[in-house]
Amino acid sequence: MAKLSIDDIKNELKGKKVLMRVDFNVPLDDKRVITSDKRISASLPSIKFVIENGGKLILMSHLGRPKGKKNPEFSLDVVAVKLAELLGKEVKFSKDCIGDEPKKLVDSMKEGDVVLLENLRFYNEEEANDPEFAKKLASLGDIYINDAFGTAHRAHASTEGVCKFIKKCAAGYLMEKELKFLGQLLEKPAKPFIAILGGAKVSDKIMVIENLLNIVDGIIIGGGMAYTFLKAKGRAIGNSLCETDKIDTAKEIMKKGLDKNVSIYLPIDHVVARMDGGPGDFMEKLKKAEYKEVLRDDIDDGWEGVDIGKNTIEKFKNIISKSKTIFWNGPMGVFEVEQFSKGTFEIGKALAASGAVTVVGGGDSASALKKLKLSDKMTHVSTGGGASMEFMEGTELPGVAALTDK
Ligand code: AMP
Repeated sequence: MAKLSIDDIKNELKGKKVLMRVDFNVPLDDKRVITSDKRISASLPSIKFVIENGGKLILMSHLGRPKGKKNPEFSLDVVAVKLAELLGKEVKFSKDCIGDEPKKLVDSMKEGDVVLLENLRFYNEEEANDPEFAKKLASLGDIYINDAFGTAHRAHASTEGVCKFIKKCAAGYLMEKELKFLGQLLEKPAKPFIAILGGAKVSDKIMVIENLLNIVDGIIIGGGMAYTFLKAKGRAIGNSLCETDKIDTAKEIMKKGLDKNVSIYLPIDHVVARMDGGPGDFMEKLKKAEYKEVLRDDIDDGWEGVDIGKNTIEKFKNIISKSKTIFWNGPMGVFEVEQFSKGTFEIGKALAASGAVTVVGGGDSASALKKLKLSDKMTHVSTGGGASMEFMEGTELPGVAALTDK
C-alpha cells in the first residue's frame, strides 16, 4: 500500500497519544441496547495492537444522525461499556469529544489506557470539516490512525481535516484489509471478472458502472434498477420501478458495453406483484400483494417486477459459475419480503459455491448473506456500503488520500 500502515509505526507507539478514528456506528434497539457489535469487533485488531505496543489510545467515532445536537439518544456511552467488555479492560468515556473534559482524561492516561470520545456528530463542524474543530481533535493525539473504512468516502474533520494537523497518519488493519481486497478488483482481477449490481436506483450506480465497464468482462443487472434498462430496450415493464430521466443513460451504458465488449446481462423473466394503489407503506402493501411468476421479459400494466424469475436465476448462476472474480452490490428483488427474496438468496448461494474471488460491497447484499449464514464463504464482505461503491468508482477516498504517504 502506498500509505503508511499501522505496522509501519509499531515502534513509534510506546508512550504516544494515538488518536484513532473508528466506525462504532452500531445498531441500537429502542432501549439503547447494541444489537450487533460487529463494527466494534472489526476494529479490535487495531485497538489491541496499539494497547500492546504501549500507546495511549484515544478512540473517536460517530453514531447515528444527531445533526449537530448533543442528544443522549446518540451517545457512545453504551459503546464504551461494550468495548470494555470485549477488551476485558477499562475504557474511560469522555462526555465531550473536544474541550477540557477529553484533555484532562488524556493528560492522565498511562501506556495501554483507552479513552472513547463522545459522538463526533454532536458538532456540525465534524461533517462540515471545519478546520478549527479538526485542530481541536488533532490536539488530543501525537499520531493518527484511521480504521473507519465506512466513513472514508467522506471528507469530515475526523477523517480528513485532522490529518492536516498531525504529522503521522496511518491506516488501521480494517482499513488496510478493505483497501487490499477492493484494490485487487481494480488492479489485477482474475478473469473472467463480473459485477452483479442490484437495488432500487440506477442513478446511485452510474459512476460505478462507468468505471466497471473499463475493468470487467460482464455486468449482471437485477433488482429495481434493471427495469430502467429493460425500458430502454423497449420492453414493457408495467408498474415496475423506472427512472425515466435515466433511460438515455441506460441506453448509453448498453452501447458502451457493446463497444468495450462487456456483456450486460438483464433479467429474462420476473416475479411480479399487484398492489393496492392507495396510500400506505410500500413494504406492508407488498407483503399482502397478489403475485405470480411471468416467464417472459415483458410485464403487463398493473403489475410490478419485484424479483428475478427462475430462468433469470439459472442464467445468472451459469455466468457466476464461469467467473473467477465477482463483485456484488445490491439485491435482485425486494428481498426484505420473503416471497420476493429467492433471486437475491440464490445469487448469494451461487457466489458461495462459485470458488471465485468474491467481494461483496456491504449494505443489503451483506445482510442477505448474513441471513443465509454464508458471509464466511465470501473472500471479503466490505464493512462500508457507500465507501466500497465510491472506491469502485475509481476515485481515491478522501479519508485515504489524507493519510501519510509511505
Ligand atoms: P439500493 O439502496 O439502491 O441498493 O436499493 C436497495 C433496495 O432495493 C432494497 O430495499 C430492495 O427492497 C429494493 N429493491 C430491489 N429490487 C426491487 C424491485 N424490483 N422493486 C422495488 N424495489 C426493489
